[in-house]
Amino acid sequence: MLDIEDVTHAYADGLVAIRGVRLQVAAGELVSIVGPSGCGKSTLLRCVAGLVRPTEGRIVLDGRPVEGVPDDLAFVFQDYGRSLYPWLSIRDNVALPLRRRGLDRRARRAAAQEALAQVGLGDAARRHPMQLSGGMQQRVAIARALAYGPRLLLMDEPFGSVDAQAREDLEDLLLRVRGASPGMTILLVTHDIDESVYVGDRVVVLSGAPGAVRADLPVDLPGPREQIATRELPAFVHLRAEVGRLVRERAETVQ
Ligand code: ADP
Repeated sequence: MLDIEDVTHAYADGLVAIRGVRLQVAAGELVSIVGPSGCGKSTLLRCVAGLVRPTEGRIVLDGRPVEGVPDDLAFVFQDYGRSLYPWLSIRDNVALPLRRRGLDRRARRAAAQEALAQVGLGDAARRHPMQLSGGMQQRVAIARALAYGPRLLLMDEPFGSVDAQAREDLEDLLLRVRGASPGMTILLVTHDIDESVYVGDRVVVLSGAPGAVRADLPVDLPGPREQIATRELPAFVHLRAEVGRLVRERAETVQ
């Protein structure tokens, strides 16, 4: 479904953020992307989103080269505080992008209400972002992405700004949502190695700057995943150690 073909990106100041990234993702897969800080994870997602144009190589989505922001795409950023409109109710925040879907006001509101219910915020629809905790605001951002019904969901450190308990809840929410939309393909950038294994079907490790694919590891864990039992499985412990070693080794070489 998604083909990243030897993508290199150099910013205007000449800094090469990623070099020769090659990756294929099938429809419905959830791929975690990890790597040392500054290795170009966000740059790669921005290229896939059509926000940044690769200086070399290309990205093909459903057989078509990405040349602008694709229609069926949603992006969840770490900084939920800046991704929601403070003057709109959370229902209106979720409903807003649905204008692009050509839905009338009533249908937009109904879809927003349904997505909010899916993330456990059905009763909070009339509240405003500032009246919610960080974890709840990030749920709103996820609800907005879901209501849009994207074929491709890009998440850049989506749980990086919430506390540990909320983070686990959001990871489980992502897995539930994903179960309910089997066709949706997800790329999740995270610096949390445990998280990359816990939620992923595959973990892609990028090497230190400029980033290239260093390893692409299948996550062979039984479902449904569960915070305590899954993390205790020998296969989980082994894989997280392997990913940790790959990320750290590279980071040390770079220093
Ligand atoms: P990561 O997400 O892995 O931390 P980024 O993609 O954010 O990495 O950044 C990779 C490199 O590109 C870093 O050295 C960063 O400073 C640089 N970079 C990111 N955005 C820009 C930009 N808009 N202009 C110039 N350099 C940038």
